[in-house]
Amino acid sequence: MKSFLSEFISSLTPYTAGEQPQDRRYVKLNTNENPYPPSPGAEEALRSFDGAKLRLYPSPNADALRDAIARAEGVERENVFCGNGSDEVLALCIPAFFDKEGEGAAFADITYSFYPVFCDFFSVPYRIVPLKEDYTMDLAAFSRLRCKGILLTNPNAPTGIGINRDTMDAFIAENPDKLIIADEAYMGFYGESAVPLVKKYSNLLVVKTFSKYYALAGIRCGYAVGNPELIRGLFAAKDCFNSYPVDALCQAVCAAAVSDADYYAAAAEKVKSERTRLRQELVKLGFFVPESAANFLFAGHPKGGEFIYRGLKERGVLVRFWNTDKLKNFCRITVGTPEEDDALLSALREML
Ligand SMILES: *Cc1c(COP(=O)(O)O)cnc(C)c1O
Repeated sequence: MKSFLSEFISSLTPYTAGEQPQDRRYVKLNTNENPYPPSPGAEEALRSFDGAKLRLYPSPNADALRDAIARAEGVERENVFCGNGSDEVLALCIPAFFDKEGEGAAFADITYSFYPVFCDFFSVPYRIVPLKEDYTMDLAAFSRLRCKGILLTNPNAPTGIGINRDTMDAFIAENPDKLIIADEAYMGFYGESAVPLVKKYSNLLVVKTFSKYYALAGIRCGYAVGNPELIRGLFAAKDCFNSYPVDALCQAVCAAAVSDADYYAAAAEKVKSERTRLRQELVKLGFFVPESAANFLFAGHPKGGEFIYRGLKERGVLVRFWNTDKLKNFCRITVGTPEEDDALLSALREML
């Protein structure tokens, strides 16, 4: 049978998302979803949404949502771009800011594994900078490297290790000719966002998502905060691809969510105190676990990540495992509710 796929698409290796199995109910600690529900305001926006409005196209640039985000982040509408998940925002960053025959992008060897997929899709070259021995970002190596821009997950995934605002400030200042794209998917669980630096640096773009901190992974929304020129670049890329990426319902729900700061801060506090407890318990069970600034733990064990992953899955607990050289001793475990984490811990006690 003749294949109609392009040679190009056949040559790519797409990103593999964490499992979303439907075969049984798992204690799901594998994709860093928030264990708590969206805010009452977000749920109310959903319930009161007038379905008849779906006849019309949404605001193409999601302006009301941009305004709500701008208020929450302390910036202006012209500093904000919204997309259909931060994955889409990050994808659009590649054609917006990089050329096929240019200096290209750079990112760590152990970081969000979607970045090389985006670069390959847009045929943009990239350089890989290994993490240091202690799993922290090698910022000095990034500073020495020739590249057009750097994708920096902060806190990093899957390590959970964060870079504080002062260190980011110095790093951005040291690299005025490089675009620093800070992927702050988990920043709400750390509190050291680089957004206040956007006014100071025109080479900084901060990307955030509604999926983790805002407990809205199912609605697909993410955004970028940066100087207006960078934001215009993202709009130009969007309008070459999909003029209306953020649907009307999503715009309404997310605008309500960002306005519920107190609710989300309280939920994040619960996650953070549970993170401390879970880490201590894992260490007692013989795991190596770096201090995490995110809503997950990077947990290494002498028996290997695959043993942990498989044993837990048999016992109805899902965590994330990568069968690669550098990650094969580790699992990434999302911090759940105290009950979910107890289920994880008792399964581990049985196995170990
Ligand atoms: C979850 C995640 C994203 C993607 O979030 P969506 O908005 O759901 O697309 C981006 N970057 C990192 C590092 C993530 O972990």
